[in-house]
Amino acid sequence: MKSTVVGSFPVEVKEVTSTKNKLLSALGAYDSFKQSIEDSVIAQLDAGVDIISDGQVRGDMVSIFTQYIPGMKIEDGNTVIVSKIRNPTQEISVKDLQYAKKVMKNYYNGNIPEGCGVKGIITGPTTIVHSSRIQSFYKNKEDAIIDLAHSLKQEVDAIAKKVDPVYIQIDEPFLSTGMVDMKTAREAIDILHDGLEIPLAMHVCGILKDAFKDIARFNVDILDFEFAGNNVNLSVLEQNASLVSNKKIGFGCVDSSVNTVDDVNDIDALVTKAIEIVGSDNLLLDPDCGLRRAPKDVAFEKLRLMNQIKDKYS
Ligand SMILES: [Zn+2]
Repeated sequence: MKSTVVGSFPVEVKEVTSTKNKLLSALGAYDSFKQSIEDSVIAQLDAGVDIISDGQVRGDMVSIFTQYIPGMKIEDGNTVIVSKIRNPTQEISVKDLQYAKKVMKNYYNGNIPEGCGVKGIITGPTTIVHSSRIQSFYKNKEDAIIDLAHSLKQEVDAIAKKVDPVYIQIDEPFLSTGMVDMKTAREAIDILHDGLEIPLAMHVCGILKDAFKDIARFNVDILDFEFAGNNVNLSVLEQNASLVSNKKIGFGCVDSSVNTVDDVNDIDALVTKAIEIVGSDNLLLDPDCGLRRAPKDVAFEKLRLMNQIKDKYS
């Protein structure tokens, strides 16, 4: 049984102190987020996380992608679709993931343990389009979603080729809202998955009651859900476990919606139940969702306790 994170980690942008960085800063070449990536990687590793993220420290999950995608523009922090969506103008997260992997490799003195590593994380086309406003070109969301899937496929393939991550995760929180056309959402995931040689995961937070049966049919290798922050999803999983028997379950077992540290006995009880339902070989432990909003020490402690329970059952 391995552990991971959903993605984001609290950001603390530090003051520029070293002479080299002060010089880079004066030249406009200092990347203040690099230190945040390193800090988030070290914190995840110190807490015992096996498959880490780069901390998603650069900004919100939509504009971080849409700022590089022609056809989309950002107005007052919101994305507006203004013309046909085309391929990204540059690789979006490849450099940050490469840096995160380098930090991880150094942490392990050159040899990252088997099954551990970094993962690439991409906000899904359905979630991005539903979080955006269509101003022109598209008559419906569905056509925009398919074009965006082809655009984001460039990023998926670039990460797979240049980072060699353990897997790639698509974040589609909108799938639990009942607002989306599931057939289009599934087609979009098929486009992202096409020809990919590493596993593909999909993270959907929220209550799964109505959407689970549809989501179970998506062509992904890992489905990642929240189980700590609501008392509905566990019984939904239990009743429908046979529908996902060909997939691994990313099992959110600490509550990312509260900024207090979870009771370790609650985590233990959840994981015990998860092992009962899907078996420890099919489980990947993680928090319910990203930890960006938690204070740093709380985020760390949540991850540490999660890994304490992982070690108990591994
Ligand atoms: Zn989430």
